Amino acid sequence: MNDASKVDLAIDERLRGTLGEVDHRIVAAPYIRLINSIEGAHGDRVWLWDVRFTQPNTEHIPPAAVHSLEHMIAVFVQRHLPGFINFGCMGCQTGFYLSAMNYGDYDGMLDILQKTLEDCLQAKEVPLANVEQCGWAANHTLEGAQKYARMMLENRAKWTKVYR
Ligand SMILES: [Zn+2]
Repeated sequence: MNDASKVDLAIDERLRGTLGEVDHRIVAAPYIRLINSIEGAHGDRVWLWDVRFTQPNTEHIPPAAVHSLEHMIAVFVQRHLPGFINFGCMGCQTGFYLSAMNYGDYDGMLDILQKTLEDCLQAKEVPLANVEQCGWAANHTLEGAQKYARMMLENRAKWTKVYR
């Protein structure tokens, strides 16, 4: 799905070495990296990010917590991120995919995610956790999501270090 060799644009040098698929045995979660950046026919560019919370094949986020984090971050990140497209769980429950249009600034993205996770800690409820807006409204935990949001914030200094 990714062809990192086609990413020829000027991107932050720190992102270049971890584009595309990574060897999950040698990463060091938590981290935030760029997976891909694709330009459309009219010059708009979609950026896809890997927002990794827990160490692959070692620890995963429990189902209710990963679900609530998905809701909370998807809603709260829109306060900070221009061009937001989507925020979705990885099936392995170790992290999330974040996509946005025309926003590829690494330091800016780190700050946006920091602010978003701080919003998660302030939240009094999980947004959209109802049967009208969610496919499994009973499967949520505010406290569980906040535990992992807090863990991410405590590791803020490590987000740019993708490999061990
Ligand atoms: Zn849901």
